[in-house]
Amino acid sequence: APRVGVLALQGDVREHVAVLEHLGARVTRVRRASELAAVDGLVLPGGESSVIDKLSRVFGLREPLVAALASGLPAYGTCAGLILLADRLEDGIAGQQTLGGLDVTVRRNAFGTQGDSFETALAVPALGDPGVRATFIRAPVVTEVGARATPLAALADGRVVAVEQGALLGSAFHPEVTGEDRFHRRFLDHVRAAA
Ligand code: GLN
Repeated sequence: APRVGVLALQGDVREHVAVLEHLGARVTRVRRASELAAVDGLVLPGGESSVIDKLSRVFGLREPLVAALASGLPAYGTCAGLILLADRLEDGIAGQQTLGGLDVTVRRNAFGTQGDSFETALAVPALGDPGVRATFIRAPVVTEVGARATPLAALADGRVVAVEQGALLGSAFHPEVTGEDRFHRRFLDHVRAAA
């Protein structure tokens, strides 16, 4: 079984662990560099990207994470996790950094206060039919997809909300809260292919 980690500094760690274990993966909660070194893929959960960023430095994980992603560790980021995987962030709070990996620009909290959270049906051609029930919770959007990344899904207004680049996957929404497991399956496929 693939050995994968869920970055467990803050956020909806438990939901990702449950989906991955249901799919047969061996799952480690990653809080230190030694735990990161022992996994073949990493999920970055939803939560608050600025807090995860801060804690990654407190826990001495930032440099190992940046290095692991740069050297091709398969990863899947949802929401705050997508923000962390983005190479460029439009509107981080003061001093906020991302880990990078995905050749995209993201904007945090892109749906304003009224539309903070919503659910919508989303076509994701790479995952086939039916579409995905996507839950957006204070979600970001991808405002620019660079040449190395590929959009996987967009809202009706054209805004990109899921991307892929090699073994890196990111979604602005949270499939882990609606029983949708195809993104996690795809992530595990990347992990097996890289191993
Ligand atoms: N708004 C959060 C952030 O900027 C992301 C929200 C989420 O992960 N559900 O990090």
